[in-house]
Parts: sequence; C-alpha cells; structure tokens
Amino acid sequence: MRSKQGSSWRYMLQLISVVAFVMLLASLSYPPGRENWLLQWASRLDPWLLLSQLRWQQAVPAWVWLPLLTVTATLLWGRVFCGWLCPLGAMLMWTDKIGKAAFKNMSPVRVQILRTVQPIRYYWLLVLLIVFALGSNWVIFLTPFALFSHELARVLQGYMPWLLIGIMAGTLLFSRLWCSVLCPTGVLLSLAARLRLFGYRIAGNCVYCEQCASACSVGAASVDTAVAQAGCLACGDCHRVCPAKAISWQHRWPSGKDSRLVPADGGAAAKRQGSRRQFLKAAGAVALAAAFWEKTVGAAEPVLRPPGSLPAPDFTAVCNRCGRCIQVCPGKALQPMPITDGLTNFATPYIIPRQSRCDLCLSCQEVCPTGAIVQVPLDKVRMGRAILDKSRCIAWEENKLCFICGEQCPVLAITGDEYHRPTILLDKCAGCGSCENACPVAGEAAIRVLPQ
Ligand code: SF4
Repeated sequence: MRSKQGSSWRYMLQLISVVAFVMLLASLSYPPGRENWLLQWASRLDPWLLLSQLRWQQAVPAWVWLPLLTVTATLLWGRVFCGWLCPLGAMLMWTDKIGKAAFKNMSPVRVQILRTVQPIRYYWLLVLLIVFALGSNWVIFLTPFALFSHELARVLQGYMPWLLIGIMAGTLLFSRLWCSVLCPTGVLLSLAARLRLFGYRIAGNCVYCEQCASACSVGAASVDTAVAQAGCLACGDCHRVCPAKAISWQHRWPSGKDSRLVPADGGAAAKRQGSRRQFLKAAGAVALAAAFWEKTVGAAEPVLRPPGSLPAPDFTAVCNRCGRCIQVCPGKALQPMPITDGLTNFATPYIIPRQSRCDLCLSCQEVCPTGAIVQVPLDKVRMGRAILDKSRCIAWEENKLCFICGEQCPVLAITGDEYHRPTILLDKCAGCGSCENACPVAGEAAIRVLPQ
C-alpha cells in the first residue's frame, strides 16, 4: 500500500463517511425514504448488530452479508472498517491529531499509556460478551454507528452530546484509547484481525527510533514486534514517519520476528500482564454490577412505547438507543427516557401522552435498525389501552357536552351515547394517546392510556 496515496484515499473516505452520516441522519424525516435505507445499511455493517439480532430472533437475517463483508475485510487487511470507514473513528482521528499538536510534550506519555492499556482489550471484550449474554444491550449502544447516531440525534433535538464530548476529550489526552480498547466493535474486529492476511511489517533495517510508536494512534506499532499488532487500523502513519523506510505493507505470514530487531522487554511484558489481570478484575466487577443493577434496581415502571415495539423486557434488550425513531417522529411524540428512569430504560424512546400523542404514522417502524420496533399494520397496533375514569369525566360526572376524546381518536375506538358520553371499545384501541392528550380536564386526564 503506497502510504501517501493511501492516506489521501483514507481521508477522503472518512470525510465522506462523516458528512454522509450527518446529512442522512439530519434529513431523516416523515415519510422515511432513501436516506433511511442508507442508514440501515451502514448500521448493519457492524457485526454486533448481527449478534444482537441472532440473540433475540434466533434466525439469520437477510442482511447477514453486510456484517460478513466487514469481517471478511478484517480477515484480509485488519481493522480497515475502523481506520477507513467508521464515522466515529474519523472524528476521533481528527481529534487525536489536534491532541498530538496541542500536547506535543506529552507524546511519550500518551504512547506509554496506550501501550500499557492496549493489551487488556480482549479481557474487556470478554466482559462485554458476558454483559451482552446476560441480556443487556448497552454493548450495542456503545458500538460506533449506534453511539454516533444517538449523539447526533441529541444535537438535532437540541441536547448536548455529552458522551461524544467525553470521548473526544479522552482522545485529546489519551489518543485513540476508545478505538483501541473500549469500542466494542473495535475490540471484536481486533480479535478477527489477529488472523489477517496482510499488514504492516517492520524489517531489519529498523533504527529503533520508535517514531512509528509515537505516530500510531492506537498503540499498534512497536519495534518489539515484527508486524503491527492486531489493533492496527491500516492507516499507514507508521510507514509514513519511518526514517529508515523499514516498514512496509506485506503478507503477514509467517509472522516470525526478524532476528535483527531488538528483543522485547520481558520485564515490561510481565508488568503489563499484572495490570491486565487487575483491570480484568475491576472491569468484570463493574460490568457485572452494572448488569445486575440494570436488571433489578435500574428497572423502572412500564411506559408507553412506539407502535410495534417488542414487549417490555425484549424492547430494552434489543433497542440500541440510536434515536432514529425519535428523530423521524413528525409530531415529536417520541422522547428519549432520562437516566433517572433507570439504566435499562435510559435513552430508549417513549411517549408521554399528556404531552403529545402518537399520530400512528408508523415511520419509527421503518427506521428502526435493530428490530426493537417491528412492522405491524395499523389495525394491529396495540401500544397501550385507554381507561376512563368516569368520576373525572365532565360528560359523565357533570353532564356537560364533551366528546373531545372520541373526536380525536384516529381509530374510532370511542363511541358516545345519546348524551355524547364516551365509552371505550378496547378491541379497537391502539393506545396512541390522542384521547388522553386532548382531554380538557385540568391536571390528570379523565381518560388515560396505560402501557400494554
Ligand atoms: S427503538 Fe429502534 S430506532 Fe428507536 S432508538 Fe431503539 S433502536 Fe433506535
């Protein structure tokens, strides 16, 4: 791979990836069109989404070839998905470049931190897999397309993207620690990249200047090893900075070390082993405690979900909090649940009918990439069920002329008697919240919609 030419292509692809993702998400509106399909395709490149589908559907989806494409590319060239295509990765690459320029003196410290922490990523992957197997979908939330989508949707809805800001601030200080160690997709692909066919290799004319290690934003380049490590993003930065031109893109096998390279520091390796173990214990305890908390203390009261949502426990286990349903909702009825409603529910979509009603446009069903909202025909939608408190209803209690709930019901699930007093036809009620939203009674409505 010619490095200069390669990096121009890479920058261009990354720029296209970020701009396209932002524009597609910003243009996602009712009724969803081509932009929705492009977003769906992009999201499905992530193998974690396939794992999530397999977990709850127990069937291979028709789009299985998309994540397989990513895995195949990784088996050939390593983490090209992370280094060349991922929009979050591109954002973090630019942030890292700013960090490198701003904290030039800290460069050796940044390299050392990366190299010390990087080997724990497979233990971290194990922790993620355990949490995922326990039924949590937080792992999927942290994957790049879901996280970037969630944070962009927050910006478009007028909120601060705190998580993205935090990750970018961390990148300024610690280089691409997120991409190297913490990103679930990054670590999963690092595992596949151990088998890659091609990669950067250091030859015997290396002068041990360690410039490759300083340039590598994920800590994958090192003169300790003959080939770049599995975390390598195939960006070519090491090749570009090497003064001896000792690094080249080659077939990786056999992976034996060039005898003219300096031996690895055994003491440092042993130290790293020790810190790995400590990290594993700490991260394992935190992750299991979070999974336990999510399942118990974090679980909140049932709420009204978008039309076609999976039943309560499945919904939060499948939704990746990408926020696209919230973004596409024309009446802004869908809102992200706050953290105060529990870790399980955090950032998942819900409706507060007293504030806004669902217009039953069903756009959310079309844009959901995970299957948390499935396509259900309008006459089969059952988001909740309306209940009438006759003691609060002014038509029943005060004999006033009011049939607003019946007039607003889009599925004609409320009938009136000769005095226009409402009665609910439960078998027709879609639970959209129109009646509760329109009820003129002050405070709590006389007619309310309870979640199914
Ligand atoms: S329900 Fe679907 S579209 Fe909405 S946030 Fe969850 S995954 Fe995204």
